[in-house]
Amino acid sequence: MCDFELVSREEWGARPPKSTESMANPVPYVIIHHTYQPPACSSTEECIKAMQWMQDLHQLQNKWNDIGYSFVVGGDGKVYVGRGWSTVGAHSPSYNNQSIGISLIGDWRSELPPSRQLDAVHNLIRCGIEMEKIKPDYRLFGHKQVRMGTECPGDRLFEEISSWNHFSTDPPFVWVPKKLES
Ligand SMILES: [Zn+2]
Repeated sequence: MCDFELVSREEWGARPPKSTESMANPVPYVIIHHTYQPPACSSTEECIKAMQWMQDLHQLQNKWNDIGYSFVVGGDGKVYVGRGWSTVGAHSPSYNNQSIGISLIGDWRSELPPSRQLDAVHNLIRCGIEMEKIKPDYRLFGHKQVRMGTECPGDRLFEEISSWNHFSTDPPFVWVPKKLES
């Protein structure tokens, strides 16, 4: 069902989240990011270092609960678990509690990620639909469509995702309930 290699938090050496807020599935949105920093990684060893670097930045410096993204995809073609399918993320204000945020490690302003990295994103989304974590009629956006002032996910990657089936040019205004936990 899920045709990609998943790297668990334990496998990449994540610290536990400081706190978690559960998210209802299936979600209607998928939001694509690039990390910008850290730069692209091609070996699993490098990608693990990138994951740890981001968790340090998000959790220790930014004082968030955990690494912000739901999932992160490396240039090694593997999918790294961030907050996962059912925990509210910290990647796109107004959408955090109803989207899966997927970040591609690297700076994708002028270059396209390698095909194995893009393939892993497609496989992850397909898997999310099959597991009923993502709605089959989900809409996909680049981060800059829902947040003023960011160039994320980079022009070249944005051009790429613009051709994907579920890409939408019309992100709706999203009402954010204060709490989604039961
Ligand atoms: Zn972003």
